[in-house]
Amino acid sequence: MDQNTTSSSSAIVIIGSGLAGYTVIREIRKLDKTIPITLVTKEPGYFYSKPMLSTALAGNKEASQLVSTPADGMASQLEINILALTDVNAINSSKQIISTSHGDVAYRKLVLALGADQICPSVQGNAAHEMFTVNDLEDYAKFREAIQGKKKVAILGAGLIGCEFANDLVLGGFGVDVIDLASHSLGRLIPETAASELQNKLSAIGVRWHFNTTVQSIDRVNQQLSITLANGTVISSDVALSAVGLKPRVDLAQAAGITTGIGIQVNRELETNQPNIYALGDCAEVEGLVLPYVMPIMQAARALAVTLTGQRTALTYPAMPVMVKTPALATIVSPPAKGAVGEWKNKPIEGGLEARFESADGKLLGFVLMGTATAQRGALTKELPAILT
Ligand SMILES: Cc1cc2nc3c(=O)[nH]c(=O)nc-3n(C[C@H](O)[C@H](O)[C@H](O)COP(=O)(O)OP(=O)(O)OC[C@H]3O[C@@H](n4cnc5c(N)ncnc54)[C@H](O)[C@@H]3O)c2cc1C
Repeated sequence: MDQNTTSSSSAIVIIGSGLAGYTVIREIRKLDKTIPITLVTKEPGYFYSKPMLSTALAGNKEASQLVSTPADGMASQLEINILALTDVNAINSSKQIISTSHGDVAYRKLVLALGADQICPSVQGNAAHEMFTVNDLEDYAKFREAIQGKKKVAILGAGLIGCEFANDLVLGGFGVDVIDLASHSLGRLIPETAASELQNKLSAIGVRWHFNTTVQSIDRVNQQLSITLANGTVISSDVALSAVGLKPRVDLAQAAGITTGIGIQVNRELETNQPNIYALGDCAEVEGLVLPYVMPIMQAARALAVTLTGQRTALTYPAMPVMVKTPALATIVSPPAKGAVGEWKNKPIEGGLEARFESADGKLLGFVLMGTATAQRGALTKELPAILT
């Protein structure tokens, strides 16, 4: 699989075979069927839907069952060259070359779609290293293997991913403890009243909550994990999963002199500060915003494809609500922008809850819809201001 820097080098090189990498390629192909594209990825190059990772355990799905298209199928469908199981180690932005574990690859345009790492907090104890994170198919396979034949899972983090795993694992027959520093679930996204609704529904199917505390140590005692919380509670569990948040992968970019903040910083055209290098997806920070969700990636991929095929195009973000995949209580969140001034107003309705975050003059700036209220998604989304105009 050696790839040397020759005149046949691809016009466009994409690093990363996640949703961001593949979506930008799909969008480019809608506009240009022939421009040479090379995809370089650490992964096998298959396409799978990452959001399914937090809903597939209940159905006892194997990792391989979640692959929708293998690498060779993607390569022929999109007419691209895929360098799979290939690490990109460095970017030389002046020579326009990337160094990989299989040789150098030259580019005219380079797209960083590197994703993010799940954060694994450092805790004490002889089994601290046994904490799992699930952010790709390989992680999923390892986690699934670890819980085979087991009964209890402790989840650190009651955010979107933590709640989804909690619901899925309970449906899969596991006892679940969820631990979070915040006072309620989905802490940064929704108000306490709405969070209580979700917690009550998840408690009713067996989730145990531990709020306002964190994990201090994890020790293996007689085949079990003994998890000591900062509030003194000790939980006995078989497996521990961390779902406390994501850290955009910025190291490769940073080492190449690309400006980074929380993520790889790009302008509205998704350009980094280095010529011909772009970034999108979970690794990218656009005007201070890191939005690690599907909808922002689709928007960014569409705009970037137009830019890469010759017409500089600025990214816009409409309001983009996110569905929390907790079947115990259907929930859709569209949190207000950071620093937005207003207050939450709850409107309980038959079989659901509508919580609106409104400015002093009654403008809708964010919402949470639960249960039957999720039917209002379309109407309320239209009322919301765009995130980036
Ligand atoms: C469990 C879970 C559930 C989710 N559910 C939802 C949901 O319901 N709705 C929603 O909107 N969002 C959801 N998300 C978020 C959404 O899935 C992500 O925002 C999206 O998949 C990120 O895609 P990406 O391409 O940016 O990153 P990734 O999918 O992480 O892809 C990054 C790629 O870069 C490659 N890479 C990185 N560094 C290198 C290197 N040095 N060399 C070579 N290759 C490299 C990786 O191998 C990988 O192929 C969920 C996320 C998780 C983890």
